[in-house]
Amino acid sequence: MNPINPLLNFSSLPQFQSFTVDSVAPAITKLINDVNDSIASVLNNSAAPTWDNVITPIDDATEKISRAWGIVSHLNAVNNSSELREVYTAQLPAITEFWTGLSQNEALFDKYKQIRASSSSLGLNGTQNKVLSNEIRDFQLGGAELSADKKIRFQEIQASLATLMSTFNDNVLDATNAFTHDITEEPQLAGLPNDVVDAARDLYEKAHQKTDDSNQAPGWRFSLHAPSYGPVMQYAAFQPLRETMYRAYVTRASELSGNSNGKGDNTGIIKQILTLRAESAALLGYKNYAEVSLAAKMAASPSEVIQFLNEMASKAKPYALADWDQLVKFANTTLNMADVSAWDLAYVSEKLRESRYAFSDNEVKQYFPAHKVINGLFRVVTSLYGVTFIETPAETWHEDVQFFSVKDAADSVIGQFYFDLYARETKRGGAWMDDAINRRQVGGKIQHPVAYMTCNFSPPVNDKPALLTHDDVITLFHEFGHGLHQLLTEVDELSVSGISGVEWDAVELPSQFMENFCWEWDVLQHMTAHVDTGAPLPRQLFDKMLAAKNFQSGMGTLRQLEFALLDMLAHTDFDFANDNITALTHRVRAEVAVVPYPHFNRMPQSFGHIFGGGYAAGYYSYKWAEVLSADAYAAFEETGVLNAETGARFRREVLARGGSRGAMESFVAFRGRKPEIAHLLRHNGMKLAA
Ligand code: ZN
Repeated sequence: MNPINPLLNFSSLPQFQSFTVDSVAPAITKLINDVNDSIASVLNNSAAPTWDNVITPIDDATEKISRAWGIVSHLNAVNNSSELREVYTAQLPAITEFWTGLSQNEALFDKYKQIRASSSSLGLNGTQNKVLSNEIRDFQLGGAELSADKKIRFQEIQASLATLMSTFNDNVLDATNAFTHDITEEPQLAGLPNDVVDAARDLYEKAHQKTDDSNQAPGWRFSLHAPSYGPVMQYAAFQPLRETMYRAYVTRASELSGNSNGKGDNTGIIKQILTLRAESAALLGYKNYAEVSLAAKMAASPSEVIQFLNEMASKAKPYALADWDQLVKFANTTLNMADVSAWDLAYVSEKLRESRYAFSDNEVKQYFPAHKVINGLFRVVTSLYGVTFIETPAETWHEDVQFFSVKDAADSVIGQFYFDLYARETKRGGAWMDDAINRRQVGGKIQHPVAYMTCNFSPPVNDKPALLTHDDVITLFHEFGHGLHQLLTEVDELSVSGISGVEWDAVELPSQFMENFCWEWDVLQHMTAHVDTGAPLPRQLFDKMLAAKNFQSGMGTLRQLEFALLDMLAHTDFDFANDNITALTHRVRAEVAVVPYPHFNRMPQSFGHIFGGGYAAGYYSYKWAEVLSADAYAAFEETGVLNAETGARFRREVLARGGSRGAMESFVAFRGRKPEIAHLLRHNGMKLAA
């Protein structure tokens, strides 16, 4: 008898010990067949559609695919091997095709609409109605309600957009790769860190190997890739080097990038992308593409977003001007520079930062042993929400992984999570939270949620504990915030419990909210202990960290707002016949920027977030979510940051609700009013005069 395929066992936690790459293909094939059978039997049922004969069987079937494939993609990300990558890649098209097919299944769409029409006679609750309206909205945004000829045009547009966006990204990458700059005079390297110089030398030698004459003079090659470009702009004392690199960088994929006959120029592609997005919006009955983008977001309308961005810009501008003034003065007096050009900005800023805040990450790190930080994190969460954490035995995928149960005040387990904190060769970079199991009610029983939290911290060396930088600590709190959103949910419906169904511009609220605690002196004292002496973080060092946090926050804020405004305006009232993206960029800069931009700067031509990725009319979300989290945190500042009553309210109105109602509704229920931007400005050191 064959042992049961571990990916097909849904009665417990994922079975990582018995997982093998050979389990993948048969499990996924079987699950896709099963789910297609379930869909067919739902559609063939001639009885009037109800929650129980449509939504529940579809949820049952799709949940199994999500969970099984979730395990495979998780392992592919944290325990990668060539064998696993191969089966993952082989199954991916079938999985993608399944979900695309489901989202375009019009017979199913029809059932959903019938259920909604009889929602009150079926006695559906608010959460169930939210599930239905989400589903119906997504069908509509996918073009399901268009007439036959319009549907064809809509699909043509989607296909063209996919190609154009991919070409946009290719052009940026090609332009980034096409440019290199060689140096053969050593003094021009002044100021650059040794590792950067070594890498530049390697690059140069590799490039010149083929034309090798063995008496070759030494040389260094710089490129527009981040590990080379970033340090040059930040550290290179030789101004002409910075200027050359800057000019090449900001003209990538534009008419100025030196390519012959316009090949690789994104200017025309931007125009085509914007035109097609506007046309697709019109087909769906919207005024512009920004409205389409916002249909599934928290922000209500493009004008609300534009007003938000303008208000924030006008409030931040005086601080940005002060930042700029200080920078220029410092350049004049300390660096003997007559003025500060765009290519001097990062360099002068770095020098100013060094002169003001002389402390190293390494010094800070000694105070943050991992176990102390984790205990400190748990302590914060226990004070706020009354839940406790118990390490629990479970199968994992690596010996470093820890597994915890979350218990409520009555000592019942309400959720569980995996902590996989340390970098290793088989793990993808970055940090993230992912759902393993979502909360739902099945057959009268509650299935509790399970989360993966993954980071890439430096592992412990020898018998010393792992030490975290302060940035690492912030990352851990951030991901744990996402985790709490997933784990403290009280929603019974799969597609809106935990982080599921939460609006995209609100999903970072719980995570950014948690970051604030890493800047609280009272919190830090309890989670720091010098690795050798056991002493807590000294106040003096903490004050320097705090001051450095807000360094140039005015200029930084305006830069983000400039991008966000450009994005929103390009997708709202853009006149495609008479306008162009370069002119729009100049107008936005004239309004918002305090830093001088040279006339040749062509940033939009490499703005991949909005022209090559998923952020179109959505770039504002970064600032939007920061405003939400800062304002939510201010409620804690008003009552004491570890106040259990405020914590209980935040848990009840925000964390517990997941996607079961709109994020604005949850926010207002918690705060008693709509979000205000003043708290974010204050947290960034921009205190408004009373
Ligand atoms: Zn996040």
